Amino acid sequence: MRRKTKIVATIGPAVSSYEAIVELIEHGMDVARLNFSHGVHEEHAQRFRWIREASAAAGKPIAIMQDIQGPKIRVGTFPSGSVELTEGSSVELVPGEGEGTAEQICVAFLDGVHLTVGAPIVFSDGLITLQTDHVEDGRVVASVVFGGVLSDHKGAAFPGTRIDIPVVTSKDEADLNFGLDLGFDMIAASFVTRSQDLRAVRKIVGDVPVIAKIESAIGYANLDDILHEADGAMVARGDLGVELSLQSVPRAQKEILRRANAAGKISITATELLESMTSNPRPSRAEVTDVYGSVLEGTDCVMLSAETAVGAYPNRAVRAMDIICREAESSPDFERAPDVSGLDDRSRFASAISEASVDTANRLGLNTIVAFTESGSTARLLSKYRPRADIYAFTPSETSYRRMAAYGGVTPMMFEREESTDEMFMRAEERLLDLGIARPGEGVVMVAGIPPNQQATTNIMKLHEVGTAIVDDLQG
Ligand code: PGA
Ligand code: MN
Repeated sequence: MRRKTKIVATIGPAVSSYEAIVELIEHGMDVARLNFSHGVHEEHAQRFRWIREASAAAGKPIAIMQDIQGPKIRVGTFPSGSVELTEGSSVELVPGEGEGTAEQICVAFLDGVHLTVGAPIVFSDGLITLQTDHVEDGRVVASVVFGGVLSDHKGAAFPGTRIDIPVVTSKDEADLNFGLDLGFDMIAASFVTRSQDLRAVRKIVGDVPVIAKIESAIGYANLDDILHEADGAMVARGDLGVELSLQSVPRAQKEILRRANAAGKISITATELLESMTSNPRPSRAEVTDVYGSVLEGTDCVMLSAETAVGAYPNRAVRAMDIICREAESSPDFERAPDVSGLDDRSRFASAISEASVDTANRLGLNTIVAFTESGSTARLLSKYRPRADIYAFTPSETSYRRMAAYGGVTPMMFEREESTDEMFMRAEERLLDLGIARPGEGVVMVAGIPPNQQATTNIMKLHEVGTAIVDDLQG
């Protein structure tokens, strides 16, 4: 069986050459993430071209994801790159991105943060904590509760405080427009708080799929509203762990994965899955258990960040993911009744056919489900019913071919449009035989929308024995 869980790898300085990307693909990368919180446009464009070239050379679809920074609240700079904040000292916060001191610190977007007296302020992913003492005319005075060294551009979080910042900042808008010209396969939108934020992204990117990064308390609280509009959700455990509390992250992860899958959307688990591999050649026991558990919880994708972007062992990290995912998928615990209940009305026919197809394949112990799909949505639905069988998704669209690289359990296949459903079935069968995926006499489930080539909803399922001529069958 093929690996069902897909691997997202962040492309950064550690894998910044054509050869390095070829190797990541060989080791198992399915989705390449370009993180627009770092780097300049020219760098991203270069990496984008390398990934496209390497993907073509390998004959393997790679979806490229543009991760936009969003309204990440950060502190400004300091004369020598950092300051030490000591416990009990008083600090003034001012809006902006300029240079500050240990007594006065610039905080981007501070105007949109509605702090009240007593509210906590967290710097540097939880390292430093302050408490709000006084708020007046946008000026905030706070005292240091847990001190530490604060360096340039570190993140600032305000757990429990209402924040009003547009999710598409002017930087995001410029990045998205730049990305549109390159042609990204999917977007990851940071710090999404509600469905409206996704509509703001869509206004710029059109029909490119958008993954909502769930990384704030408010985003998590509005998860269902967000899932209504998003094409998927990412458990962004880094920022989520600061915004909620560390011990809340495991339950939030389970919930986000469950609800994204139930809504028929893509699910991604991100951040620190193999963190120690940033500097070590092997993962820790705890990390292996974490990845394994995420697979059992039903994630479509597991994501690598620093491990591949700046780590010392990017290939080994991808390889480790590959091995752990396969092991988890072979566990008896991996087979569970999926709860796909949150689908909208438009998908009713397609989801009924998908469920029936998966049920049939499971019941007959078949290894292969073949889907014919223009947009990829049939393949995504099938994937959500979590068949034991591998899903081979045939599409005439190169865009869909690449996007489906992020779908759990789906192997995208390019193929030419055919005039009739029978011809489509026959071509697909030939490919399965040629590639050694299916053997003569074996049963496969075929799922399609007829009439073909008309964006028809998925409305037909055929049980087919490989090697029996389809056309003759019908004529004879
Ligand atoms: P980031 O998002 O890596 O862009 O911060 C993921 C996370 O917060 O976990
Ligand atoms: Mn984040």
